[in-house]
Amino acid sequence: MKKHNFSAGPCILPQEVLLKASEAVMDFNNEGLSLLEISHRSKPFVDVMEKARSLALELLGLEGKGYKALFLQGGASTQFLMVALNLLEKRAGYLNTGTWSDKAIKEAKIYDDVYEVASSKSAGFNYIPKGYDIPSDYDYFHCTSNNTIFGTQMKAFPKCDIPMVCDMSSDIFSRTLDFTKFDLIYAGAQKNMGPAGTTLVVIKEDILGKVSRKIPSIMDYKQHIDKGSMYNTPPVFAVYTTMLTLEWLKNLGGIKAIEKVNEMKARVMYSEIDLNPLFKGYSVKEDRSNMNATFTLINDNLKDTFETMLKEAGINGINGHRSVGGYRASMYNALPLDSVKALVEVMSELETKA
Ligand code: PMP
Repeated sequence: MKKHNFSAGPCILPQEVLLKASEAVMDFNNEGLSLLEISHRSKPFVDVMEKARSLALELLGLEGKGYKALFLQGGASTQFLMVALNLLEKRAGYLNTGTWSDKAIKEAKIYDDVYEVASSKSAGFNYIPKGYDIPSDYDYFHCTSNNTIFGTQMKAFPKCDIPMVCDMSSDIFSRTLDFTKFDLIYAGAQKNMGPAGTTLVVIKEDILGKVSRKIPSIMDYKQHIDKGSMYNTPPVFAVYTTMLTLEWLKNLGGIKAIEKVNEMKARVMYSEIDLNPLFKGYSVKEDRSNMNATFTLINDNLKDTFETMLKEAGINGINGHRSVGGYRASMYNALPLDSVKALVEVMSELETKA
């Protein structure tokens, strides 16, 4: 039986994508060769890379607007330092909303001066700070749109006169936004896109070339752009599977269509958390993430019963991150509403039992 997969990442992918990806591993495009055996410079793979790049821009509404999409390696964590290497000349402003922002700040500090415009660290990152200033003479402003571990999400983005860089690893392609507000977006693939191994970077080209330092080629966005995202051997399987997921999303009706489903899933999930007296949400209501719902069981004595019931219902991956504890239901694009209903049913059954 296929489980209800609430894993925070790597996470659930659409079934049809998994099927097509597995077929391509055996025989890609009826070429008589596996996707994993062909040259990345061969036309069939170059076509895959180009399609993945153009679908990413199309779905974000960024085609023809001066942006380039790249599929790089090293995870979102490598972007923490690539952003700084390519854009940080004197000083940058960072919004600290969780473990990943904290890590991004730490890496950028290696290269130059970083200023935290605001932080929710002292409150255990259970809210998104608002009403802070972003000095207009900084090189860029960096934020994290969705905080995977704590379950908070930026519902609005600040007015920003300098380039805005955003780590969208855990909510990219899940909701409509005016993506033209951002000058650089990055996202690890392993949530709404595909398997771990590639990272999407979307850059407005005109923000590059402004730092005086020498940038190692592999870390230089310009090099990757000039080489069509093929500076070195790309992670072919991750890029191909991401292309399939982006096609799947386009066929569904794009971000607008999936956003409605995601909102519905979040409504069902959070209303159970709020109405069931046995549970308590972790983050403040107005900043709750539609991707990762974090909550705790008020009475710890019910833990074993609850977890046995979850297991029996085939619910996988809802343990909270080790730094937060409790539970985290991750509801990425490919998670069906029925899985959320199955989880909510277990929670309400626990209430009747308790
Ligand atoms: N940023 C966010 C928001 C994340 O959720 C994660 C991973 N869960 C990362 C960065 C780090 O990504 P990676 O493991 O690809 O380096």
